[in-house]
Order: sequence, then structure tokens, then C-alpha cells
Amino acid sequence: MKYLKTFAVSLSVMMLLSACSPSPSESEPMLEPTVGGENTILRSTSKVTNDAQTKKIITTQESFQIGTHITIKVYDDKEVPNDVFDQIFGLIDIYENRVSKTISTSEVSNINENAGVEPVAVSDAVIDLVEIGQNYAALTDGLFDVTIGPLVDLWGIGTDHAAVPSDDARLTEMSKIDYQKIEIKPLDKTIFLKETGMEIDLGAIAKGYIADRVKDLILELGYDHAIINLGGNVLTVGTKPNSDAWQVGVRDPQSSSGNTMGILKLEDNSIVSSGIYERFFNAGDTRYHHIINPKTGSPEFNGMYSVSIVSDTSVDGDALSTSVFLLGLEKGFALVESLSNVEAVFVMEDQSVYVTSGLGDRFILTEKSYVIKSLTD
Ligand code: ADP
Ligand code: MG
Repeated sequence: MKYLKTFAVSLSVMMLLSACSPSPSESEPMLEPTVGGENTILRSTSKVTNDAQTKKIITTQESFQIGTHITIKVYDDKEVPNDVFDQIFGLIDIYENRVSKTISTSEVSNINENAGVEPVAVSDAVIDLVEIGQNYAALTDGLFDVTIGPLVDLWGIGTDHAAVPSDDARLTEMSKIDYQKIEIKPLDKTIFLKETGMEIDLGAIAKGYIADRVKDLILELGYDHAIINLGGNVLTVGTKPNSDAWQVGVRDPQSSSGNTMGILKLEDNSIVSSGIYERFFNAGDTRYHHIINPKTGSPEFNGMYSVSIVSDTSVDGDALSTSVFLLGLEKGFALVESLSNVEAVFVMEDQSVYVTSGLGDRFILTEKSYVIKSLTD
């Protein structure tokens, strides 16, 4: 029951796939525990539908893994066998068991337990993820920092012990955060945190990385058209089978029921959003959300409600959505404009929306209380 309850909450924060899938309330599946890898995986059986538009059969399965609601939709001429979904959910399980900071036997937990003690042997995936984290730390001058773990634990956002910490506690934990004190030895395949108390947290990039690996697997298995949705990180495989663009709803950050405020038309792309609505708690008049500025030790408040990043890979989208949120509108917008094949939609507290130049007519505003503005207005 505990899982089912969390699952219901995750539905409310999930991004809608409009026009190509029913809304979550219509598709609420029965999730049954099945054994896979080391964990019991909560997952649905296949839902099979005929898609009139593309004249293909869509096979959909859902699961609850890596702390989030996952939906995989594959288009083909016939029903996709259960075994394909076994492989997909099994792969996600393998990665979850390597990268989750809350699984005591994971590689990341092992690195954290051995902080200040000794280097730890890890898989290529963890080396890749930490290296990607280091690149984004350099790009954001340390605002994005995968050693954020001590501050994430202190605030406890998304847990039942979330609370505003004392200034002293905040300062103590802030002093443990420094991506430059991660020693990666790619040839030995080891990672070492140089000081006791340091802690890696890959929460800002792991879902994106895993979505990319799921896409690789789907392509390897011979399917060219699919949608992967890992708790709102949406990654499309190919175009729709009739060559139409996919239409992905952008969540309205002010809606507690998961309404959308716009639509993005995508082809072979990833869309990832970060915002104040995903995980938070309220104290007084303030909503404390889960993206923490390592230089202040507190959730970042800069007038931004959410940012959605369109990119080729989901890991870049995931890293950038968190990074750009931390950089704020002006610097974040400039960073996205400087990168090729990356676009963004910013939604601000004052109801203004900013769209980067390359999106053109691929973003359609549907919620009329918002106003599209330009930074030069
Ligand atoms: P979500 O995972 O909900 O989609 P994000 O991708 O924006 O949202 O990631 C938020 C998570 O990133 C936090 O829960 C935390 O684990 C981690 N995090 C928080 N602040 C930072 C930061 N400054 N740098 C890197 N990771 C962070
Ligand atoms: Mg992210």
C-alpha cells in the first residue's frame, strides 16, 4: 500500500503526454509486484490499443521505479511481447541498484560511506554520471554540484522529516560540498570523495541517463517508434510512425492537479522539466522545493516556476533543467542559446513565459493566463 500511495502522488506531478496518450487519470493502471533483479518491481500488465492516426498498435506498460512513475509506449504492427518490457524494467532496476543513494548496497552509497577513507570501484555508468556531473558543475561555476548530498539530507525535502534547518546546520553541511574534491580514476574505474562527510547525490541526472539507456535498448530490440516517460522526463524514439511530431504537454507549475500550460512538438528529442512543484514542503508562506543552491545552502528562489529543456539526450536535458533553474532566467537563457540542439521554455512566477529562439512554432501556449515575453521587452 505504501507504494501505491506514492504512486498516486507521482501521477499528480507527472507531465502529460497530450494527443498521443490518455491523461493519467484515464490510464490509472493496476500495478502488481513482480520480481526483477534485487527489487520487487511494481508494474502493470500490457495495455494494447489500436491507434487510428498511425494505424499501428500501441503497447503500454507502467511501473513504479527509481522513486517515480514510469510509462513506456511502443508502436508496432503487432502487440509488443511482455518479454520486451521485462528487459526494459529489468534494465531500470539494474541502474537503480547502482545509482540510488537510498539503497544501502548501491555503488553511490558505497562511495559515500567511504568518503575520506578510500577509493571505491564502480561501474562505467557511475563513472559516466559523475563525469557528466563534473562537466555541468564547470559550466555553472559550481551551482550544479553532485556532492549536494549533505544539503539534500539536511532539508529532507520529499521525506516525512522535511524542515527548515538552523543557520548553523546549513553552514556545516555547505562546507562539505565541493565537486572539485571528487577524484575519478577512469582507468582504475574508481571514485573517491576526498573528505569525510561528503556525499554524492545523482538525483538531478540519473533519470535522464537511465531514459537514454532505455532508448538504446528499445532501438536495439528493433523498435523505431516509442515514448519513454520517467516521471516527467519524456524521451521520444523516432517520430510518430506516420512521421507526425509527438505532442508533449508542458506542466502548468501552478496547477496542483497536473494541468498543462502548453504543448511542445517534438521529433527524436528529450524534454525534461525542473521546477518548484515537483517536490516541496510549505512552512509559513514559503514553499521550499528541492533544487538547492550550494552557495546559499537553501532552495533557489529566483522568480522561476519551472524550466523545460528540449535536447537530443535526456541526460543533458536533466542536467540542464536543474542547472538552468539554478542560473536563473537571464544566465540560463543565455546558456541555452549558446548550446546547439538545446532549447528551453521558462515559466516565471509573474506569469511570463520565455521561449528560446530555436523553438519557433514548436511551442504552443494553451493556458491563456500566461503571457509570452521576450528578454528584450
Ligand atoms: P526531478 O528529479 O524531480 O525531476 P531535478 O532533475 O531538477 O528534478 O533534480 C532535483 C534533484 O537534484 C534533487 O532532488 C536533488 O537530488 C538534486 N539536486 C538538488 N540541488 C542540486 C544541485 N545544486 N546540484 C545538483 N543536484 C542537485
Ligand atoms: Mg535534472
